[in-house]
Amino acid sequence: MKEIKVHGIVLREDPMGDKDKRLILLTREQGKITVLAKGAMGAKSKFRALCGVFSYVELVLTHGATFYYIKEGTLIESFYSLRGDLFKLSFASWILEVGKVFCLEGQENEELLAILLRGLYMESKAEEGMESLPADVTVFRILAENGYYPELARCRGELSSEEMNHDLSVDPILFQPSVGGIYCSECQKRLKTGAGIRLSPGALQALRYMIEQSPGKAYSFKVSEEVRKQIHEAVTDYLTEQTEHGYTSLGFLGKITGSP
Ligand SMILES: [Zn+2]
Repeated sequence: MKEIKVHGIVLREDPMGDKDKRLILLTREQGKITVLAKGAMGAKSKFRALCGVFSYVELVLTHGATFYYIKEGTLIESFYSLRGDLFKLSFASWILEVGKVFCLEGQENEELLAILLRGLYMESKAEEGMESLPADVTVFRILAENGYYPELARCRGELSSEEMNHDLSVDPILFQPSVGGIYCSECQKRLKTGAGIRLSPGALQALRYMIEQSPGKAYSFKVSEEVRKQIHEAVTDYLTEQTEHGYTSLGFLGKITGSP
């Protein structure tokens, strides 16, 4: 029987009968796949440790009639600390939910997996009160790398008046999630810009930093609580507008954080 090796993150685990577990994984090599872990419900099963949601695993699979079966498996990282913190858990779930939307079926997803793993790792290290930030950086970078790169360096009003100085250091800046663009303060007075999210110049700088920097640097910045909120609002609205997709973890996050 043909074997394949995959590396992936466990998105979901469900019992199958009394003994087995069914796992849904987001893999680097094959996109989203469903695998059966025979006997994983047993206390002594060698597969038990592989089955936790968020676990990053290496699996050798064999293909049955309807499922892949785990032949061998190694736990690379459990991201265990995510499960002990409701905020981190919720934001990590959101990261994976977004990853699922952008995952290519039956194809290699090397870059997406790398972003997701870094996101989960950074989320597990998040500072108290700043749990939204690693998730926002991760989601914003996923969007930017998948054809939704926002224009945050130039005011949209430049199209109608290039003569003017479109100063992006003057508060407020207007971010429009539906188009992924911004208006400077002057253009907001001058033009009919429509609705959007108010950003301070600091929040705009942070949003640019989040997608312009290398993966290793993109998470290392500090912001005030006010800027953190603006970033989260901008990223969540940009995500839902651009992907036209609902996110169940976002609804749950709204409930526990008390913000829409
Ligand atoms: Zn302008």
